[in-house]
Amino acid sequence: MNIDERMVAGIVNAVLGKLDDISSPYAEAGAEQWGIFENMDDAVEAAACAQREYLNRTMHDRAAYVQAIRDVVLNQENLEYISRQSAEETGMGNYEHKLIKNRLAATKTPGIEDLTTDAMTGDDGLTLVEYSPFGVIGAITPTTNPTETIICNSIGMLAAGNSVVFSPHPRAKNVSLHLVRLINRALMEAGAPANLVVTVSEPSIENTNAMMNHPLVRMLVATGGPGIVKTVLSSGKKAIGAGAGNPPVVVDETANIEKAGKDIIDGCCFDNNLPCIAEKEVIVVDSAADYLIFNMKKNGAYEVKDPEIIDKLVKLVVQENGKSPVTSFVGKSAKYILDKVGISVGDEVKVIIMQTTEDHPFVQVELMMPILPIVRVPDVDAGIEMAVRVEHGNRHTAMMHSRNVDKLTKMAKLIQTTIFVKNGPSYAGIGVGGEGHTTFTIAGPTGEGLTSAKSFARRRRCVLVGGMDVR
Ligand code: NAD
Repeated sequence: MNIDERMVAGIVNAVLGKLDDISSPYAEAGAEQWGIFENMDDAVEAAACAQREYLNRTMHDRAAYVQAIRDVVLNQENLEYISRQSAEETGMGNYEHKLIKNRLAATKTPGIEDLTTDAMTGDDGLTLVEYSPFGVIGAITPTTNPTETIICNSIGMLAAGNSVVFSPHPRAKNVSLHLVRLINRALMEAGAPANLVVTVSEPSIENTNAMMNHPLVRMLVATGGPGIVKTVLSSGKKAIGAGAGNPPVVVDETANIEKAGKDIIDGCCFDNNLPCIAEKEVIVVDSAADYLIFNMKKNGAYEVKDPEIIDKLVKLVVQENGKSPVTSFVGKSAKYILDKVGISVGDEVKVIIMQTTEDHPFVQVELMMPILPIVRVPDVDAGIEMAVRVEHGNRHTAMMHSRNVDKLTKMAKLIQTTIFVKNGPSYAGIGVGGEGHTTFTIAGPTGEGLTSAKSFARRRRCVLVGGMDVR
């Protein structure tokens, strides 16, 4: 047999590749399991091992790994599969909108370009302040955006040089595990260390607690309701809390009412109202109310006027404690919900509307389904004050339709939400038809806002004494 130079190089590379693999005790296991571990301790230790190896990779490598995540999600077959599975497994939301959300997460989540360096130079030399990884991050993800959150957290956390251990919601187990496997395979094909993105085969509250308490997990990121946000904030670790919202939309008499009616319905019905940013109650100045309702109906709203049916709906979709929605109705379509109270409508009906008072459970409770109460107010100032009250201090998201700059400014200042959308549907606030990057982890309580790679990084100073000042 003739052995030429190319063959020798090939054999050497194969042997070196094998040596690289066995330098990590988890590398082989990772290749078989693609990031899925039976035991949380093993998952965290594998992620820690991967992160140590990751520290030696270049920024160019990191960019390539981020691109590999984007590419594997944007592969049409994968995109369709995770979007369909996500809707089917959780029983929430709809396939078409999940396609849009997953594509959005893969394309508009910032990568390494988010990690800008600050430099100071002077007589004493050069000082750099850079974004540096935390290490292993524990990320808890919700049922409402299970795949979107895994996509955007993986991109942002890996761009910042971390590895990540996911704790998916048990009701979104299969699709979450599938996505972690896809991401792992893509990362390994791109040459990344094995196990940069891991999870466990049986997500549970016990496993989430084990992850949160593991000493190798340096940062916690919770995307979910108030319970889990409170838990991570009490953990004693650096934590990001992306919690609940109850976004109000205020409409005044100066607004473009035709556009407001359409925008509100489009935002409210998106993924059957699952997004935490979606319109949850409308507060409208009395003189504009009838025309707004007319325009909402024109764009797919069905108005329930009978107080008995409204009461029936309350009993059906709000838990007896009056504080939470009935889970089996979260993310269901307007048609499905109406059917349960004996009203048969077609697919053109996207949102159920009704006129209520401020204290109505539909206004007070974060329903996450396309039921949209409308409350009349005498003037815009009363509307702004009511919006602040019903947002419950979540400081999450609010919308306003108005052409009065003073009132828009007043509401923005008073409501203090992370996202404030003026004259558009709620999703403009996460980069759909509005400027700016996207995220599915919106950190109001802890103040990072629309998270991105730099939210998952530590600020570190590096000082070179003397020299390098070229001024
Ligand atoms: P959830 O709070 O029920 O669950 C979120 C995650 O936390 C899940 O993985 C769940 O298993 C875990 N979890 C919950 N309680 C726990 C506990 N005691 N111990 C350990 N783990 C626990 O929320 P959900 O129903 O999946 O999602 C909807 C909620 O999330 C809504 O309130 C919505 O507004 C909010 N949300 C916020 C954002 C944001 O970016 N701010 C994004 C999506 C969803």
